[in-house]
Amino acid sequence: MIQSRAALLLSILCGSSCGYAATITECQDMLRTGKYVECLDAASAAVDRRSYGEEWPMLKATAETHLGHYLQAAQTLEAGIARYSWSVRLRMLAYENATTLGDTDRAKLMIQELEQVASAAPWRYTDADDLVALGKAAIVIGVDPKDVLEGFYGRAQRNYKSRPDGFLAAGQLAIDKGDLALASETLRPAAEQFPDNPEICFALATSIQAVEPEKAAELWEHTLTVNPNFAPTQLHLAKKQIDAEDYAAAKETISEVHRINPWHPEGHALQAVIHHLKNDPIAEAVSHSRAIAFSPQSPAIDYLIGERLSRKYRFREGAAFQQMALQTDPAFLPAKTQLAQDLLRLGEDERGWKLADGAQKQDKYDTTLFNLMQLKNDLDKFATRTTDQFVIRMRASESAVYGDRVEELLTTAMAELSKKYGYTPSEKVVVEIFDRPDDFAVRTFGLPDVAGFLGVCFGKLVTANSPASQRENPNNWESVLWHEFCHVITLQMTDNKIPRWLSEGISVYEERQKDDRWGQHMSPVFRVRVQRGNVTPVSQLSSAFLNAKSGDDLNFAYYESSMVVEFIVQEYGFDALIAILNDLKTGLTINDALARHTGGLAELDAAFEDYLKSVADNFATGVRFNASSEDGAEPIPDVEGLEDPKNYTAGLKLAVRYVRAGETDRAIEKLQQLIELFPDDRSPNGARPLLAQIYERQNETALQMDVLAEHLQYSGDDLESAMKLLTLQVKAELWPEAALTGELVAAIDPLQPAAIRKFYTAAMKQHDTATALQALRGLLQLEPADAPRTHFQMATLLTEKDPSQARRHVLLALEQAPRYRDAHKLLLKLTAAADPATRQ
Ligand SMILES: [Zn+2]
Repeated sequence: MIQSRAALLLSILCGSSCGYAATITECQDMLRTGKYVECLDAASAAVDRRSYGEEWPMLKATAETHLGHYLQAAQTLEAGIARYSWSVRLRMLAYENATTLGDTDRAKLMIQELEQVASAAPWRYTDADDLVALGKAAIVIGVDPKDVLEGFYGRAQRNYKSRPDGFLAAGQLAIDKGDLALASETLRPAAEQFPDNPEICFALATSIQAVEPEKAAELWEHTLTVNPNFAPTQLHLAKKQIDAEDYAAAKETISEVHRINPWHPEGHALQAVIHHLKNDPIAEAVSHSRAIAFSPQSPAIDYLIGERLSRKYRFREGAAFQQMALQTDPAFLPAKTQLAQDLLRLGEDERGWKLADGAQKQDKYDTTLFNLMQLKNDLDKFATRTTDQFVIRMRASESAVYGDRVEELLTTAMAELSKKYGYTPSEKVVVEIFDRPDDFAVRTFGLPDVAGFLGVCFGKLVTANSPASQRENPNNWESVLWHEFCHVITLQMTDNKIPRWLSEGISVYEERQKDDRWGQHMSPVFRVRVQRGNVTPVSQLSSAFLNAKSGDDLNFAYYESSMVVEFIVQEYGFDALIAILNDLKTGLTINDALARHTGGLAELDAAFEDYLKSVADNFATGVRFNASSEDGAEPIPDVEGLEDPKNYTAGLKLAVRYVRAGETDRAIEKLQQLIELFPDDRSPNGARPLLAQIYERQNETALQMDVLAEHLQYSGDDLESAMKLLTLQVKAELWPEAALTGELVAAIDPLQPAAIRKFYTAAMKQHDTATALQALRGLLQLEPADAPRTHFQMATLLTEKDPSQARRHVLLALEQAPRYRDAHKLLLKLTAAADPATRQ
């Protein structure tokens, strides 16, 4: 009230420039561009002048809301409704205002009145804004969202193409229901038509952030150029900063929000999250009480705080907040969905699925819940192996092929790593391996279509992609499970209070400790980065994961983190690493914990930089590379430059040129020089695989095998080379060697029938019945057409050890191939042996 009088007064006192009364469109523009005070002044003046139009009280109340004057907004809306008693839009705003104020009675009343006035004169409410208000009310009273989309928002979009409201409401509804594809489909054309509408740009960015992160970032930036006070983007930024552990920057961003609206509930909620993460319960309580100052009965704040904590892997605490939200409002769906996800990640499957199922019955349109229940359907069909320490779930057919290897690897990881870290998980660890990437993504991230992850660990639960889904880009799944299991230890040891970089760093470090071929290593690309000083300080490493702009960036973040761990262990001892983990558990921040056990953060930053630089300088010293992925790489030299004996990349090019020219001897000589120059090349396109190809063409099998075997000492993922070597070794009847290479092939892709047949042969030649049987079990799954022969082979192997199983297999062979003569013979033999009457 004070402001509106002041505005009136000003408009009387001032000269012509101030006396100008703004139009509705101008005031809408003020809102759009963040001039909330100006908008409030102008709208207040119009309301005081009794200018006609429901827009005036709407504009005024909206400006008041943006400024945090919630109670004044309530009065404005009440007065507006008194004057424009037919208005559905004012009532929708009043409903939203009442919800913000936690006034459920008034919120209910507004919806009832809205229904009454709308049904009394439906012909009156046909323009875009009214349709949107009616659609929102319909959602509140539980109309099927599909009908709302079509009947209200669709109509608003079709009939009023020049108004953004229908598009925005439809897009927002799709986002709320987790249908991001539909949301972006709706919002994309709208963003083209209304490029300077921050709300549409923001909603589009939200819907595409997972699939087009760069475009989304551009859109977010754009919203702030249009409206520097646009709170949704500021809050989004603050969330990102919290994710990156940049709490100082997040605090700064939140204070920007509070500069415009000192009461912004979400701003205070995020501040509470920061205090929680910094282990400051008193400050957290203060921020929490500010966040709910106007609306103590709203579940939204607890939901938001919990959801952000779960983002930081603090699932236990996150779940507690969702439970509080549900105490306030047992029907609050976002909290139910989030709690279900939290429980599933905590390994509390039964409760989690029950909750998800109930929530889906409450809202059939919610895509997240729909996807979750689809996943459950698939998971129910999985085979479960339960050991003393693990529950392992895989597709039954995959479990039969390589489930034993999974179990063995995890058991070894548990034994070795729990001993090393002095921590044994008290409950069974759940490991799920998915053959469908969408199942993995839904289980892991709550939404399908997230690519680029091999495995994820939540503390008690590990999810991983099966090698079946990684054929395009083969990967050593054993290294993945070792890495993820190591997260189990570090997450549980710290009650999930470990920052991402340290957890990743330890996992990669332990990969290398277990097998030198696993994990990230210094490479020509990394060497350039380090030598150019393109290294993130230890104290800011978590941001390196979040701000990675390319695969190389992310890979380097993993590598650098693992080198910090290596440096700490080398310089301060393994006990220092354990002490840091223990400190984190008690709530100390990572930088404080590091400082305590390494002699100061600044020194650590400097000493580590020197260390990493020395690793880079000692890597392929004097060797030049021209990798195209190197930023600012020197150009590939022209013909004369190729002769440079110290340039590895140029040398490879030259060798290829020799091969093409038929100068094989020169090519071999060059490649041998290159291997000597840079023996640590782990790449599948390096000198060794190329040399092996040449030997292959020359039928120099022994030399080819030697080079391939040497190459595979450095590479744990090169399926092609491993398969080639295995084939040659089987052909050369080098059985122990073949068995060893077979292990590597199975660690990359255990699901290849051709390879399994080779393991089988190698095992048989070495009289390793157990491995041979395992291979046959795999073939049975992968090549059902060949089942009679496989059953017969199994029966043969089991004749001595387990005649009854042998009989079973021979019968299975005959069931599918009744004229199988060898099987008949074996059956006779088995029957004779089993019949005591014929036994002497
Ligand atoms: Zn990891």
